[in-house]
Amino acid sequence: MAARAARPAHARGAAIITDQCKAPVVYDLLHTEPGSAARVGILHTPHGDVPTPVFCPVGTQATVKALAPRELLELDAHLILGNTYHLYLRPGADLIARQGGLHRFMGWERALLTDSGGFQVFSLQALRVVDDDGVTFRSHLDGSEHRFTPERVVEIQEQLGSDIAMVLDECANPRDYAYNVAALRRTHLWAERCLRAHTRPDQALYGIVQGGVFEDLRTESAQALAQLDFPGYAIGGLSVGESKAEMYRILDLVAPLLPAARPRYLMGVGSPEDLLEGVARGIDIFDCVLPTRLARNGAVFAPDGRLNLRNAAYAEDPRPIQGGCACYTCQNFSRAYLRHLVMAREILGLHLNTIHNVHFLLQLMRDIRQAVLEGRFLALKETFLGRYRVADAGAREGNRQAWRQRNRHQP
Ligand SMILES: [Zn+2]
Repeated sequence: MAARAARPAHARGAAIITDQCKAPVVYDLLHTEPGSAARVGILHTPHGDVPTPVFCPVGTQATVKALAPRELLELDAHLILGNTYHLYLRPGADLIARQGGLHRFMGWERALLTDSGGFQVFSLQALRVVDDDGVTFRSHLDGSEHRFTPERVVEIQEQLGSDIAMVLDECANPRDYAYNVAALRRTHLWAERCLRAHTRPDQALYGIVQGGVFEDLRTESAQALAQLDFPGYAIGGLSVGESKAEMYRILDLVAPLLPAARPRYLMGVGSPEDLLEGVARGIDIFDCVLPTRLARNGAVFAPDGRLNLRNAAYAEDPRPIQGGCACYTCQNFSRAYLRHLVMAREILGLHLNTIHNVHFLLQLMRDIRQAVLEGRFLALKETFLGRYRVADAGAREGNRQAWRQRNRHQP
C-alpha cells in the first residue's frame, strides 16, 4: 500500500487539478474513556481519514526534515503540518498554487494542516510591528517587509490548499497580563475576520484559544471562540517557557470549555509525557518539531527516556535503540552504528534517527488510541510514565539554546 500511495497523484495520470475535493472536514467523536477526558475519534478530510488522537510530524518547509513522503506513509503518519510563514516567504504561496497546491507540490496525498504563520511572526520579536488590523514583519531571509492580516493569512492557506487551516492569532508573552488583555482582544477580532474571509469548502478553519497563563483570560478566550462555532479549536501559546504544571493547569481549565463534538488541537506540544497528559485532558491533535529536531541532534526516544547517542557508553552497544521496536532503524541497526553515524556527521544518521523518533511517537499514539477504546488508557499512562524518565527543565532549555545557536535564522 505504501509504495503505491507514495507516488504523487500526477504520477498516476490523475487530472491536473487534484486538490479540488469538495468533501468537508468532519470530526466524529467515537468514544470517551470513563474516568478521564481521553477520547477517540476520526477526522474525515478530503485527503483521508485521520484517527485521533493523532500526532502530526512537522514539515516546516514542505518537507518533514530527513524523511521522504514514502517513509511517512510507511510510518503511517496521517496528518502533517506545513508552516505558512516559511512557505509564504519561500517559495511563495502563488508558486505553490500554480504547482497544484501543497499536497501535489510536496508529493503528500494524506491530510495537511497549516498554521497561520502568526507564531513565527510573533516569535521574531525584533522584526515585527502589530496593530489592530494586522502585523508587519521583516523576512528572516532577506529583510524585506511583509504584512499579514487575518484576510491575507486565510488567502495564503487557501492557496496552499491544506485540509486544516488556522486563524491568525497573536502569541503574547504568557506572563504579561496587561499585554495579554490587548492581544486577546485582537486575537478574537482577527478570528471573526478570518471566518468571514474563509471561502474554501474543502478546508476547515480552526480557531485558537490564547490568554497566556491567566485563567480568566483563557476562560474568556475559550468562551468567545466557542461562540463563533469553529469546526475545530486549537489551544495556542503553551509550551513557550511556562512550567509543565502551568500548561496542564491551563489544559484542565480550557478543554472542558470547548465544544465536545469538535476536535481540540494542542499546538507545538509533542514530548511523550505531554502527549499522555494532553490526551488525558481531552486533546485530539498535537504537533511538534521535537522528534525530528532531537533526532538531528543525536537524541532518540526509548521507553526509559531519551538516549543521547553521542554518549561514549553506546560506542560498542550492539543493541537497537529500543528492543522490540518495529521501525526500520531498530530492525536493522545497532546503537554503536547509529552513534558512529552521528559522530561522523553522516546524513544517514539524521535519517535513521528521525525514522525511529517519529515512529516512537506515532506508535505511542496508536497504543493510546487502542487503550482508550479498551478502557485502559489511565493504566497505560501510569505504566508509561512510571518508566519514562522525563527530560528535566534544564536539559530541555539546554536543547533549546543549543538549537537556537545553530539555527539563528530558523524561527
Ligand atoms: Zn525504532
